[in-house]
Amino acid sequence: MCSHGSAAMNGHEHSSLAPYPLRAQAPVGKRITSLYKKRLDNFFTPGQWEKVNLLAALKDGVYSGPENIKLAVWHATGTTRPTFKEATEKSNPYKETQTGENFGPSWTTHWFRASLTVPKELCQEDTPVELHWDCDNEATVWSEKGEPLQGLTGRGERVEWILPKAFKDGKEHILYIEMACNGMFGNGPGRPIFKNNAGGDSIQPPDENKHFKLSKAELVAPNMQARMLSVDFQIIHDAAVELSEDSWEQHEALNVASRIIDTFNASDKTSILRCRKIAEEYLGSEINSERVYGSIEDKKPTVYAIGHCHIDTCWLWPWAETRRKVVRSWSNQCDLMDRYPELNFACSQAQQFKWLKEDYPYAWERVKSKIKSGQFHPIGGCWIEHDTNLPGGESLVRQFLYGQRFFEANFGTRSTTCWLPDSFGFSSQLPQLCRQAGMTRFLTQKPCFNSVNDFPHTTFNWVALDGSQVICHMPPCKTYCSEASFGDIKRSITNHKSLDQDNTALVAFGKGDGGGGPTWQHMERLRRIRGMANTVGQVPRVHSGGAVDDFFNNLEKKASSLVTWYGELYFELHRGVYTTQASQKSNNRRSEFLLRDIELLATIASIQDSSYRYPKKELDEMWEGVLLCQFHDCLPGSAIKMCYDDSNEIYANVFQTGYNLLQTIYPVLGISEVRTESISSLENTLALNTLPWPRQEIIAGSENQAVIAHGSSNLLSVAEFGTSQTEKLVTIEESTTGVFVLQNSQLSVTVEDGCIISLYDRKAKREVLSGRANKFVIFDDQPIYWQAWDVEVYHLETRQELRATTTSILEDKPYRVSVLTETKISELSSIRSTITLSAAFDGQQSYVECAADINWHETMKFLKVEFPVDVRNTEASYETQFGIIKRPTHYNTSWDMAKFEVCCHKFADLSEYNYGVSILNDSKYGFATVGNVMRLSLLRSPKAPDDTADMGHHSIRWAIMPHQGELGAETVRAAFNFNNPLKLVNVTRQSCLSVFPIVLRGDENLVLDTVKRGEDDGDMSTDELPRREGRSVVIRVYDALGGRGRGVVETTWSVSKVFKTNLLEDDGEEVPFGDGRFEVDLGPFQVATYRLVLA
Ligand SMILES: [Zn+2]
Repeated sequence: MCSHGSAAMNGHEHSSLAPYPLRAQAPVGKRITSLYKKRLDNFFTPGQWEKVNLLAALKDGVYSGPENIKLAVWHATGTTRPTFKEATEKSNPYKETQTGENFGPSWTTHWFRASLTVPKELCQEDTPVELHWDCDNEATVWSEKGEPLQGLTGRGERVEWILPKAFKDGKEHILYIEMACNGMFGNGPGRPIFKNNAGGDSIQPPDENKHFKLSKAELVAPNMQARMLSVDFQIIHDAAVELSEDSWEQHEALNVASRIIDTFNASDKTSILRCRKIAEEYLGSEINSERVYGSIEDKKPTVYAIGHCHIDTCWLWPWAETRRKVVRSWSNQCDLMDRYPELNFACSQAQQFKWLKEDYPYAWERVKSKIKSGQFHPIGGCWIEHDTNLPGGESLVRQFLYGQRFFEANFGTRSTTCWLPDSFGFSSQLPQLCRQAGMTRFLTQKPCFNSVNDFPHTTFNWVALDGSQVICHMPPCKTYCSEASFGDIKRSITNHKSLDQDNTALVAFGKGDGGGGPTWQHMERLRRIRGMANTVGQVPRVHSGGAVDDFFNNLEKKASSLVTWYGELYFELHRGVYTTQASQKSNNRRSEFLLRDIELLATIASIQDSSYRYPKKELDEMWEGVLLCQFHDCLPGSAIKMCYDDSNEIYANVFQTGYNLLQTIYPVLGISEVRTESISSLENTLALNTLPWPRQEIIAGSENQAVIAHGSSNLLSVAEFGTSQTEKLVTIEESTTGVFVLQNSQLSVTVEDGCIISLYDRKAKREVLSGRANKFVIFDDQPIYWQAWDVEVYHLETRQELRATTTSILEDKPYRVSVLTETKISELSSIRSTITLSAAFDGQQSYVECAADINWHETMKFLKVEFPVDVRNTEASYETQFGIIKRPTHYNTSWDMAKFEVCCHKFADLSEYNYGVSILNDSKYGFATVGNVMRLSLLRSPKAPDDTADMGHHSIRWAIMPHQGELGAETVRAAFNFNNPLKLVNVTRQSCLSVFPIVLRGDENLVLDTVKRGEDDGDMSTDELPRREGRSVVIRVYDALGGRGRGVVETTWSVSKVFKTNLLEDDGEEVPFGDGRFEVDLGPFQVATYRLVLA
């Protein structure tokens, strides 16, 4: 101010400034913006300008001769993945090799011994030297001592490794490089792109015979200033191209970029520094260090950039490769953290941490030290990033229990954020389960890919069926593998849909899906984007240097005013994954029931006989296997065949271990298994019931033999099915040619051409159907691109009814009748289906049981079975984890229409006032209800990424259960029973199972689901977490139908105390316990866990 003042008073003191010329010295033209914009690319792209543009200055020296780099290679046998020790055995013949050689085929491993000698001229202290290595595939750099140091990914993704200072002594140093013959996205044919392509594309089944050419193995002295200028220029370029021309900041970017190009001279290295000085005018002078971020308090950031590395635990590669992807990716991060102190890296999936711990102790310690120093953040609280639609309720609980326990045992902390960026839709009870697992925050991004409706919120409170909520954030840049580009940071605000409530966003940056994580390029770009925000503005203020928790802590302060979203986050894409890879779904369902049974019986056994050891270790192994297979590309069916070979092995192990465990449990309980085909005498024979309610069922033996089991305990009495009744309890007749009538005291079923043409409810005196039911229909199934994932709405227009070839009577037994229908699908495929009616019991709803043996060899077809019912409602109900979800049966709005295929668990139901129909199933998850047509999805036949998906034989069971009244406990229990048939056992002595050792009495909407031993029980705990004295039993109860539920848990065990706990079994309030009982009182769809401390 002062100087201005004095200048004004003394006009003639301006003499130092040249006077404004009288005459124009030369013409000055307005820059033609479009031409100047186009010119920018020529400054950094390869091609005809590369000898004179910035690329020519990036390297001060390149050394690839044998005096500097010598290579020898050893090929691992077949597709084995040997350890460092195995690979470096003296006896392994390492043979000389060089660039230009090819390595393969797909999935093989090749170990290179690299002898590096740094040229004398590069041995000065401050000259960086890098190894550049590119073979189009993935590799791990190992020290000579066997320490995995860093990962490399070909095709320019991450090709440099910085030589340690010790190598700069002019002497030869040895390094090992473990090459994996797969790209970041496996071995799909063609270029790694995710779009339809004549030469193949990345989701096609792998090319098993790929070979990879080692195009680059050289020592490089980079020109660091030129490298930094290239990042400076990239951001200024993006500002010039992406900002709107109505902003001065865009024009300034173009001016600055043009001046940089004009100043640059490839043959004069000093010009680089002058160029960088010009760049500073736009980016500020602090971009060369983390200081650019300043203190958060000074300038509140709006975009929190968190390093991340999404590694699909299996997908276009098998588990075994993921184990190596983990060490490659995470070692990279540890290295990068040393150079970029602002790098904060969040990483989920306890399973991957466990693999690292098992396979790579050096890298494990390195990661642990970075966790301790606060840059590496384990996150997510789950065992793996699982699917959330298909796993049962208890599976979701265990994802959290096993995940959080691993994090707590190994790193001393639990996660507060559930991190599932890529799972295919999110089921309605997740917020409740998150809250009970110590997580108040939820991060995903997937609904941004909805193909019909734009999800309307970025930040919101997501509310479960029971009313529990979590703060949910969906990064507005629409990716969890951000390149930390100018565009992604800008979109973090321009795409933000909740700006009226909060203006902060999270960006998860780093190479992902196939692993990798952040690179130095990401870190440098972010510094410059922040520098630009500090200097010229126009771009959101990005912050790199905090944890995800910091971001959410900030949101939590205003959480109560954020908008709410109730119910599931239905994903309007990947609807085919409820059905693809049917055997995985079936194995998942069977495993869940098996685990439930074993935990219950082993708990009882361990209390009955203190010498019986609760098989915690085996159960943990079974659970970890099942949880692993629930990974979001595994169970949904979107992985390559190799992954299913692996998961089939895991399931086979689960079933075998489970079988073995049962054989050790039965004797403790005084029972032994009976083979139903050879019931010789009913003496000492009872039926084992592992479900917590009374049951009455027929168990078929051989030929005409059958027994009726009934009772109210874990062991039910059995009686021979009386054949002496004067009136048959179930009949079948061919009423007219080709028309069969099956009838019991409740239902009359008329079958023609394999379809049920009438289902008459004799009790309710009403017809259940409105058309031909149990009708097989087939659809063309060609989605837009993602075959295994998607079924598109237009497939519905191609519906074709399959016609039965023959129907005949299969069984006419006193207790059961059935008809058999053969249906030809095509020259290749056929169905052998049965419709069965059993004798009905008074007071218990009878149902029509259907089964199909399907020989399936189709291409891009979708098989379903339909049930048009005489029931009208605008909403249908579907079982989900710990509850019911209602979805529309109409297409009123695009939101309703988008749910043309939905997920169900053991049943779907369409009910009107006082009457309804439930469709039960034993292994299916895809369903649709349109108007009054219910449709169970059976089989798909996508050809990518597994062209053998679902080919072959399938056995599927379902049932049509009409019921009086609305959807109720009858259906819930019938669906459990349908999936968990009674087993005949011999009783060898008085068994403790003859009364329920633990049972829940009271409202029938309550389900006593899980009974297990406490995780921390002193006699069986297996991890490093603190143990608790004594023994305890943990039980889980939920309301299955959406109402208040009150009941009493009764037990014969000697219990001293009962605590209400969360899912992680932390004790909460003590529950009054006396006379062997305590009360439970649950709100709608509430899940409650109790820990019974044994006396
Ligand atoms: Zn994924």
